[in-house]
Amino acid sequence: AIILGIESSCDETSASVCIDGVIASNIIANQTIHHQYGGVVPELASRVHQQNIIPAVHQAIVEAKINKNQIDAVAFTRGPGLLGSLLVGTSFAKAFALANEIPLVEVNHMQAHILAHFIPNQREDKKLPEFPFICLTVSGGHTQIVLVKDYFEMEILGETTDDAAGEAFDKTAKILELPYPGGPLIDQYAKTGNPHAYQFPEPQIPGLNFSFSGLKTSILYFVRDNVKQNPNFIQENLADICASVQHRIVSILLNKLKKAAQEHQIKDIAIAGGVSANSGLRTALTALAQQKGWNVFIPKFEYCTDNAAMIAIAGYYKFLKKDFVGQDVAPLARMPIV
Ligand code: ATP
Ligand code: MG
Ligand code: FE
Repeated sequence: AIILGIESSCDETSASVCIDGVIASNIIANQTIHHQYGGVVPELASRVHQQNIIPAVHQAIVEAKINKNQIDAVAFTRGPGLLGSLLVGTSFAKAFALANEIPLVEVNHMQAHILAHFIPNQREDKKLPEFPFICLTVSGGHTQIVLVKDYFEMEILGETTDDAAGEAFDKTAKILELPYPGGPLIDQYAKTGNPHAYQFPEPQIPGLNFSFSGLKTSILYFVRDNVKQNPNFIQENLADICASVQHRIVSILLNKLKKAAQEHQIKDIAIAGGVSANSGLRTALTALAQQKGWNVFIPKFEYCTDNAAMIAIAGYYKFLKKDFVGQDVAPLARMPIV
């Protein structure tokens, strides 16, 4: 079966073609207009989605070397995300399904981040995670430890009580006067810094939940106090600050992941979402996996941050179940994973 996937939940307009479970194209149009505002401006995001969606879909179809009439179903992100952004993808998908007389498949964006692991050929050994596995989903809006029992049967074991891990990266970058989006920049600067230069506190949160707002405040005060003494403190110590912050965020994430794996006696461990692109997290997780004997699943870079390939693969598995929705479907800004 051939599935067209559409993603428009935040500030990436993306279209992908999936042929019998294999990704044939994955076009991602990033929106740069938000950089000057230091964050995503929802009203602007939806307008840019409107401009980008038809070219993105067209290019996805061309690159996949198929004809539009061969598409068997269209899958789209129904939520969670920015309502105005979701509306563009949802409306496009509905119109495309109606015009081509094909079924419509709704996809949960957070499930899709996890199901990106079922895009084949991401690993040399071609292994896929086996159910049940644990996935740490770390993105711009979410931080969740998920017990994945089946493709669409998931249970949240723990999640953040305030900021998401991606937000912790982005807000730290803002404190350090780095441009938006700051996560990848912190990763970059951290590479040449000393992760033990500065000690940031690890919050004591019970169970498998997370909190990042205390860390953010401590970074803010730390930088403010040091800049008072030395106005060039940030510039002179940028790599060390980034490495130390990244080290703390990664240790918070991995300590909870260890606890979840131990409590549930699970050795297939995955990470997903934009922050899973972080090199510090990838390296530390790989080392931990060796120590614990885990089979660890780390997505290819292009499937970490928002992309339609993950929507198309999730859509493919729903298509196999004939899990379709009608033309009355509406997007949801909030949409629980279960
Ligand atoms: P959600 O999936 O929760 O709706 P989102 O779709 O905005 O949120 P993603 O696109 O999955 O989030 O991820 C974006 C986040 O990932 C941003 O916070 C960004 O800073 C962060 N990020 C991307 N690359 C890196 C990196 N290399 N290091 C740290 N953070 C990163
Ligand atoms: Mg984005
Ligand atoms: Fe996302």
